[in-house]
Amino acid sequence: MNNIEALRNMLRNAKQCLVVSHVNPDGDAVGASLAWWSYLRAAYPELEARVAFPNRCPEFLGWIEGANQVMIYADNKEAAQSYLKGCDLVFCLDFNALNRLEGMCEALTGHSAPRVLIDHHRQPADEFALVFSDITMSSTSEFIYRIVLALGGKTLLSRGAAEALYVGLITDTGSFSFSVSTPEPFRMAADLMELGVDKDTIASRVYDSFSEKRMRLLGYCLNTKMRVFPKYKAAYVALSRSELDEFGFQVGDTEGFVNFPLSIKKVSLSALLMEASDKTYIRVSLRSKGNILSVNELARKYFNGGGHFNASGGKFFGSLKDCEAYFEKILKDEF
Ligand code: 5GP
Ligand code: MN
Repeated sequence: MNNIEALRNMLRNAKQCLVVSHVNPDGDAVGASLAWWSYLRAAYPELEARVAFPNRCPEFLGWIEGANQVMIYADNKEAAQSYLKGCDLVFCLDFNALNRLEGMCEALTGHSAPRVLIDHHRQPADEFALVFSDITMSSTSEFIYRIVLALGGKTLLSRGAAEALYVGLITDTGSFSFSVSTPEPFRMAADLMELGVDKDTIASRVYDSFSEKRMRLLGYCLNTKMRVFPKYKAAYVALSRSELDEFGFQVGDTEGFVNFPLSIKKVSLSALLMEASDKTYIRVSLRSKGNILSVNELARKYFNGGGHFNASGGKFFGSLKDCEAYFEKILKDEF
């Protein structure tokens, strides 16, 4: 693997490092970060290491080993900033540009420690000293696993780390149904099972751990809120804050909702438009199926965002109604 010797050197010389991932950390962000953290502590006991996320991860990921030791920047900026001060190395996992750290971005841009990017999104920014970027990786968790293998550290992966990697692998691939373009993720899954992963238990923790309200919100979205546009092979769901509040919305509750409309045979593009908690913008999630429509391009062009070919996100600054009209205009213009 390219860069692996450079990485080894950086690790040998570093005294204190921080592992960070993107805002609203998902299964891959949390899994990759915690597995890398676990590996670092096993392989480099002299190296001080911590993990920080801009904000909290959803509850269904809270059981992953080490999750309770992550510094949450939004909750305690001082602690994170003070730790960062002493860092001479920063790992940036599962995002391609520092602005994906949102509130935590400035703390990083204003810091001189070299940054190592490990990521599988398109178009990495020019903000990193060492770049591991590969869009053929199913997930950053797969990337982390392969880097650990390249460093010769497989035996240092604990069962907890293997579980974390498995979470990243299944959540970023819809349990191997997309983003898997090589046989490697399956080999990795087999290895992780050998390291002690109980796949049924993890699937249950990740997929069968939601509240009744969350299920009813999903029902409401699909029954009442989903708008389908057969002419454009598109569908979207728009959710206002008051609607979310009505269903006792918790962070992570709408995770995966955007995928459901794609189960309709004639829908190839799906969007979820959600009013942010402070109502200052609309969070946009985009999904496509097949190899024709790049929602990464769509997110970049219209929503100042990005992501992958089939999964991307961005923001719209304005009201929910305006966002819906804007999205419908995009459908007319693009398709
Ligand atoms: P989600 O819709 O699940 O929030 O995000 C889908 C994918 O798009 C993820 O891989 C995520 O990293 C990426 N993504 C989501 N929001 C943004 C954004 O605002 N900017 C960029 N560059 N990528 C995003
Ligand atoms: Mn990812």
